[in-house]
Amino acid sequence: MKNSMPSGTAKLMLTLVSILCSLGMFGQPIMSDLLNPVQVKAEERVENMKGKSIMVFTPHPDDEAFSMAGTLALLARNGNHIQVVIYTNDNRGSLDLTMTRERLAEIRRAEEEKACLAVGIPKSNIHWLGYEDGDLEYADPKVLRGDVARLIKKYRPDVVFSPDPGSAWVQWHKTDHRMAANITNDAFIAAEWHLYYPQHLLDEQLQPFKVKEVYFFYSQQPNYEIDITSVFDQKMKAALAHVSQYEPSLSKYTPALDPKTAEAVTTRFTQLHLCNQGKCLERFRRVE
Ligand SMILES: [Zn+2]
Repeated sequence: MKNSMPSGTAKLMLTLVSILCSLGMFGQPIMSDLLNPVQVKAEERVENMKGKSIMVFTPHPDDEAFSMAGTLALLARNGNHIQVVIYTNDNRGSLDLTMTRERLAEIRRAEEEKACLAVGIPKSNIHWLGYEDGDLEYADPKVLRGDVARLIKKYRPDVVFSPDPGSAWVQWHKTDHRMAANITNDAFIAAEWHLYYPQHLLDEQLQPFKVKEVYFFYSQQPNYEIDITSVFDQKMKAALAHVSQYEPSLSKYTPALDPKTAEAVTTRFTQLHLCNQGKCLERFRRVE
């Protein structure tokens, strides 16, 4: 198709489209309306927990930053022990024709470590399962479920965060997100019953463990919201650490964040998290 737009305008459009894609505006729910909020006593609310074991499962490095970095900052501030488990190495998300998968995996790892540090999580608490970007559904599900169940038995989380496997949003969703959401959920059962992966007990003395409290991010049926106003700047640092996923770095990689992009993303996040209405929020579907 003939491009009749002036190049400057075309470039700006591409930048905005990329930012919108990054923020999930083409299907992925960063922030849906709160439906039937669950009533939880203040002392039992997850954002008030202290010294607990928390596990986060994310398809790619950045999904947890976009959807729940504020909550992570609050949990870290409260002295909780947070483990971030990342299914893929995100080594295919570049439009730069000179980029290689190996180099991109290294870039994505460094960006994720920076993002986690911005919310108070050291890189030693990041667990890379190492699957190739876009290939998670082609991995052996039984092996993958075992990987996750093993980590659950090891870290025995009081609370788990994971993408929502619910029906509405998966109509759009891409392979790694579908698979990560389903596998995390399937691993809850596998971690609870020792005969699913008996070698965990026999070889490593890992006792079975029952996950009791789960918060799903990217939910279209959120019933729980967390006020992240006090840590919103940390959330933005985490989100903006993923430089390679925004233009102009997406098309021609540069490690420097473009100030215009930073401003546009911050403005969009401010809207998405409803900061313009008084306080910044992150929303989840809570189940127990
Ligand atoms: Zn993702």
